[in-house]
Amino acid sequence: MKIICIGRNYANHAKELGNAIPSEPLFFLKPDTAIQPKGHPFFIPYFSNDIHYEVELVIKINKTGKHIEECFAHSYYSQIGLGIDFTARDIQQECKAKGLPWEKAKGFDGSAQISRTFIDKSDLELDNINFSLEKNGEQVQVGNSKDMLFNFDAIIAHISKFYTLKIGDLIYTGTPEGVGPVKAGDSLKGFIGKQELFRVLVK
Ligand code: ZN
Repeated sequence: MKIICIGRNYANHAKELGNAIPSEPLFFLKPDTAIQPKGHPFFIPYFSNDIHYEVELVIKINKTGKHIEECFAHSYYSQIGLGIDFTARDIQQECKAKGLPWEKAKGFDGSAQISRTFIDKSDLELDNINFSLEKNGEQVQVGNSKDMLFNFDAIIAHISKFYTLKIGDLIYTGTPEGVGPVKAGDSLKGFIGKQELFRVLVK
């Protein structure tokens, strides 16, 4: 399986990092080894002094496809989950400044936190999904899928122009504003609506 992540999919987040709003979905990959084993803590990697959380809705692909038309994209997923795209912001800034790829800052082991449970899309209003992240009991990020610049179907249509999507692939759909740093001892909890979908301890 592969993990595809969308960058700058919420205008206010693009702004908070001083980035332009993209005219098409911007994406990058994480390797499958980035998946955080269930229940494991997140270990801050030794090479970064500025790890940020980014809470994101995650699409789980359930059918193989390429060149998927946007109007058929909905039949390639049936569930939505929640994850954190952990980012070594210091390394990413360095890469961006040099015009280099971001993978080093985005794809390290444990960088893809993923919820144990996924929610059937029939139980969700896809263009109005509220989600949030708590750090140490305090809400630090709140998002709603209505604010995505590119919705789930547009993302699938765009990515599948370049990559074949396969069963089990995960697509992280971008983070809303409010990203920030973590330190050892922090506890993070992710919610869709009021339902807690994951919790992870930072070490
Ligand atoms: Zn992200």
